[in-house]
Amino acid sequence: MAQGRGWEGAVLRLMRAKDFTLTVTGAEDVTPRYRRVHLTDGGLLAATGIHPTMWVRLWFDNAGKPHQRAYTLVDPDPAAGTFSLEFALHEGAASDWARAARPGDTIEATVQGTGFERPTPAPSHVLAVGDPASLPAINSLLDALGSAPATVWFEGDGDALPFRADPARHEIRRVPREDAGAGLVERVKAELPELLRATPHPYVWIACDTRTTRTLATYVRKELGAPKERTHALGYWRAG
Ligand SMILES: Cc1cc2nc3c(=O)[nH]c(=O)nc-3n(C[C@H](O)[C@H](O)[C@H](O)COP(=O)(O)OP(=O)(O)OC[C@H]3O[C@@H](n4cnc5c(N)ncnc54)[C@H](O)[C@@H]3O)c2cc1C
Repeated sequence: MAQGRGWEGAVLRLMRAKDFTLTVTGAEDVTPRYRRVHLTDGGLLAATGIHPTMWVRLWFDNAGKPHQRAYTLVDPDPAAGTFSLEFALHEGAASDWARAARPGDTIEATVQGTGFERPTPAPSHVLAVGDPASLPAINSLLDALGSAPATVWFEGDGDALPFRADPARHEIRRVPREDAGAGLVERVKAELPELLRATPHPYVWIACDTRTTRTLATYVRKELGAPKERTHALGYWRAG
């Protein structure tokens, strides 16, 4: 099935990635720039199981060429064989597909590379950095980590987005996107160290644009000395 997808498809095939066809059952605009699409899973969840922040590689069409992008499962239900996807909308083939998605549309998915290592001991405080693209993963993470308090630095327009944070223990700090992420880096550097020092078992989770993610991960690990296994960082998108 991965044939015709160039070397990326061939590599995934060799690595025994699993392919599934997803079918759209509905879609709604949560905001003008954030769209939720509901799908049946083509047997994906039963075959792979689920874990927090789980994501799939979707194969979009980009002017006749395969265009693979990662998206996070929202409310996966293995018994029903369904989940939703939430798209932060911008330019791009994936966003265009989501904007136009209608019941009956199909898209192929490959499951490869996703995983979740539950931090042990359980976090006494979660320090997360993200943006609309990683909101589905942040929601999943906070849900999975149960009662831990969390501070989330959220870059970009968060108005009316579907945060599932519990205001009693999760604090969302909104940060406008400025200077290609430099504003976020500055805010996190000013505010995170004190929280990190004040808690015995911190867990740091970072997912924003690739460059900002790398800068912050290096800062937290090298300058603040946070242990590698307590710091998860993955760039979610490449700024143009
Ligand atoms: C593990 C993982 C899980 C992810 N889960 C989700 C998810 O659940 N929901 C979601 O919306 N995204 C998610 N992403 C991010 C998503 O894969 C990227 O944003 C992807 O680049 C979108 O593809 P595209 O075809 O729309 O745009 P591309 O063709 O990749 O890019 C087109 C243009 O849009 C810009 N661009 C791309 N992404 C963004 C963005 N997020 N914000 C602003 N500008 C952008 C690029 O710089 C470029 O100029 C995830 C990424 C990873 C790695």
